[in-house]
Amino acid sequence: MKCLRCGRDSAAKIADAPDGSGAWEVYYCKTCNYSWRNTDPPCITDPAQRDPWGQLDAPDALDRITARSYSAMTKPARQDN
Ligand SMILES: [Zn+2]
Repeated sequence: MKCLRCGRDSAAKIADAPDGSGAWEVYYCKTCNYSWRNTDPPCITDPAQRDPWGQLDAPDALDRITARSYSAMTKPARQDN
């Protein structure tokens, strides 16, 4: 399954609603560690509507990410004051 964030074919379903209702499913990408539910809004589940800031679309982006650089990737905080 294609990952919503990195676009690689390395995502798979990892969980179902534990009550067996089928109310939701969780997917996880083992390449970029992204996870999402099938019930998340389109701004999460539709790559065309996702915030480009959070996408990993450069061919070598994943190769350049290290734990240190990834933790430094903080989106600017909203200024409420
Ligand atoms: Zn991914």
